[in-house]
Amino acid sequence: MHNKKMINKIMHFLVHNGFIVTVAVMGLVHATLLAVMWAGGVMPLVNLNILSVVVYLFCVLFCRFGHIMPVYVSIFLEVTVYAVISVYFVGWECASCCFLCSIVPIIIYFGSFLFKGNTRWIIVIMLVFNFATYVFLYLKFGNEQPVYKAAPVIRTILIIFSSFVMVFSMIFYNVLYIYASEVEMHRLERKNEQLSVDAKEDVLTGLLNRRGFLPLVEEYMNGELSRFFCIAFLDIDNFKRINDTYGHDCGDEVLRHITKMIKKEMPGCSICRWGGEEIIILMKDYDLTVAKEKMEYLRRHVESNPTVFFNKRIPATITIGLEENKEKYEKPEDIIKVADERMYYGKQHGKNILICEDAA
Ligand code: GH3
Ligand code: MG
Ligand code: MG
Repeated sequence: MHNKKMINKIMHFLVHNGFIVTVAVMGLVHATLLAVMWAGGVMPLVNLNILSVVVYLFCVLFCRFGHIMPVYVSIFLEVTVYAVISVYFVGWECASCCFLCSIVPIIIYFGSFLFKGNTRWIIVIMLVFNFATYVFLYLKFGNEQPVYKAAPVIRTILIIFSSFVMVFSMIFYNVLYIYASEVEMHRLERKNEQLSVDAKEDVLTGLLNRRGFLPLVEEYMNGELSRFFCIAFLDIDNFKRINDTYGHDCGDEVLRHITKMIKKEMPGCSICRWGGEEIIILMKDYDLTVAKEKMEYLRRHVESNPTVFFNKRIPATITIGLEENKEKYEKPEDIIKVADERMYYGKQHGKNILICEDAA
């Protein structure tokens, strides 16, 4: 567990500092080559490696100031020039061409961040150029005697070292790419989950909206387990007057406060903000008698618990229409319509009332 955390930390660091790490490693590679060339007495390549180290020191500075493109181009040019001159001096057999291969993943990995859309062709052009350089060097120097005939031990060190750099680069950037893709995938998954919650939830109250609520009712209506439920349709009374008297922010607070009370009093129920100040409760496993008692209690509870807004007590009441599920209801809208009609009847008959049967 601890190791996994550590690896994640390192990978996170590498993904976010990939460029500067690459440049630092390139500098180290050339410092190593400098020592080997020195030992082998290949003075032109000692000088060239000093130049390369200086180039990468400048690249570190560029990276720190966020100039990534010049660094990207510098890596490409430096490695190409180094490979050509190195093959010229110590010959094809010292495997300097491996450095051309080692920058292939670098060209692709960083290029995918730097170039978007059509400009991605630049990556392809660079890869073609890289391959052409490789072929050119083989055709030109593959069977030629080099300027310096390196001692066998130096040759062996150079071959092993440049092969190692090539293989390391292939593995390193692929692992980095896989890790970065996984991180991005997880980020998108989380965002997706959040978006689908957002799409089903009302922002002000945190209640379900119609899109989130209706499928639940439908599932409950058609489910095997239980079709035994009630629907309560609530509407805040004279809400417009609350807005007009105390302001819209106060209206919002009243809505939130009433929502909180409903949530607290109706655990296990699915609650939906149907419209402006209309709320529907899906009361699972309630028959009409129990639901009636519960809704009457809720109506009185709301009535006796005004919203406190900036030290003012804002009284509010609700009118409720209630109906239980019956065979004749085929879809959620059928039973909701009846509950809505009962609520409307309550509005016309004094408000702050619970109606649970059709008017005679
Ligand atoms: P009734 O008792 O007949 O239901 O009257 P009412 O004033 O509650 O109903 P009406 O339909 O006349 O007005 C509802 C008001 O609710 C109008 C609208 O501006 C307000 N409203 C709707 N959504 C919100 C909201 O999210 N926040 C606030 N503050 N007001 C809202
Ligand atoms: Mg209202
Ligand atoms: Mg209304």
